Amino acid sequence: MQRVGFTVEKQPGFAGKREMLKGTLLTAKEKIREGTLQVEPWLITPHRAPAEQRAVIIGGGLAGTAAAYSLARRGWQVTLIERHDTLAQEASGNPSGILMPLIAAPDDVVGQFFLEAYRYAVQHMNQLPDFTWQQCGTLQLMTKDANRVRYKNAPDHPALSAGVMQPVSASDASALAGIKLSQGGWFFPQGGYVSPPALCKAQIAAFPDCIKVLYHAEAISLTYINEWNVLDKKGEKLAEAPVVIIANALDATHFQQCSELPLRRVRGQVSYLPATKASQKLQTVLCYEGYMTPAVGGVHSVGATFHPDETHEELRASDHEENIAMLKPYISEGLLNHSDVEGRVAFRAASPDRRPLVGEVPDIIQFQKDYADLVHGKQYKTYPAGNYFPGLYVSLGHGSRGITSTPIAAELLACKITGEALPLEQSLADALNPARFVIRSLKSGQA
Ligand SMILES: Cc1cc2nc3c(=O)[nH]c(=O)nc-3n(C[C@H](O)[C@H](O)[C@H](O)COP(=O)(O)OP(=O)(O)OC[C@H]3O[C@@H](n4cnc5c(N)ncnc54)[C@H](O)[C@@H]3O)c2cc1C
Repeated sequence: MQRVGFTVEKQPGFAGKREMLKGTLLTAKEKIREGTLQVEPWLITPHRAPAEQRAVIIGGGLAGTAAAYSLARRGWQVTLIERHDTLAQEASGNPSGILMPLIAAPDDVVGQFFLEAYRYAVQHMNQLPDFTWQQCGTLQLMTKDANRVRYKNAPDHPALSAGVMQPVSASDASALAGIKLSQGGWFFPQGGYVSPPALCKAQIAAFPDCIKVLYHAEAISLTYINEWNVLDKKGEKLAEAPVVIIANALDATHFQQCSELPLRRVRGQVSYLPATKASQKLQTVLCYEGYMTPAVGGVHSVGATFHPDETHEELRASDHEENIAMLKPYISEGLLNHSDVEGRVAFRAASPDRRPLVGEVPDIIQFQKDYADLVHGKQYKTYPAGNYFPGLYVSLGHGSRGITSTPIAAELLACKITGEALPLEQSLADALNPARFVIRSLKSGQA
């Protein structure tokens, strides 16, 4: 909330006959100096209007292409740097992925963010030019965890009152899915599945005059001299701009400015199961501990394993078995064809608290100096505002739900960069601030 200070002053030249009210809009820094600001100072990220509407984005997956789209639709000139010779070759390269919110207890900030992100993503997919996706609905079948969290809070859950999800019995679920299911659960009528590579391409193709992609270019370091210079491994300049968005997933930590961001590699394998006559009737996405899509080109995508810190890039038979084992309790055995299973391996970039990292990049060394006394539990109002690199932003840590989270992350960044009103409540935007980890470490004395 903006605070306005009022004083009553005598009007000069009116011999004390009249008085006027004079208001002063205090800046965040002035409020901190006064000690009246209720916001944690490290969350204050003053808007610095860039001299020109030019940005470089590093990474041609869902996070980078969504960011390019959001800036280009505001008329910005964007250079996107991608090390492969096409878009979406890494985590965003699976042929199908699920659009689905992460439902958690109503007061859980992760669930609150993903609910907003989901509603935004649905609109984004439906408005994106020359893009089709399968809005067939998503059925979340009852699992132990889902049962515990969702049903416990069912009557009050904001996703229910917003019409985002509705409870379904096993017979309702079977009718929706087109196959017999042993469990009911929750139906998300606006959900479905998406081809992430097609989404990346459509986001870039929407503004051919504004977005230029440099393929086969690998960004290795960033230096700031009046604006950001993005350099390759020979130290040669790939591009420059007043604004840079780092959206290259796990590799972001190779940049010195992001080296302390806590991203974790999580190996995932998706299995492609040949459809049978019976399984071809599946009409909605099934979610449980994993997921199964309706058949596309005679194949179901069944996913996905979740193995933190593994680096093995080859397909593993044991992971196919794991994917099939997750699915088996929910459908009849005769429905599946386990022969000739193929698949794909990729690596998620996950954050420790399941929220993506979206926003300005904190200068960690300065944070460690400015907030060193947090460990002693000092009142936050005695601290200076956060020190962030000018014009440097990230969209990282989208974990297992980048289809849902990247469109709103891109909008949030575009609004922060241009100084527009944010598309998320301030508290949710703050919950994505990449500085949250260093602050936690400082408070606990681990930094
Ligand atoms: C098996 C599996 C299944 C999944 N299923 C789903 C699902 O059903 N629903 C869902 O919402 N999400 C799903 N996800 C998660 C989703 O795919 C990710 O959240 C999303 O793709 C992340 O996008 P990104 O742009 O951050 O990363 P990436 O797609 O990895 O993009 C990063 C890009 O940066 C490029 N790059 C890296 N370093 C550099 C550099 N130095 N210079 C230039 N370019 C560089 C890479 O080549 C890459 O193109 C799944 C992930 C996996 C692994």
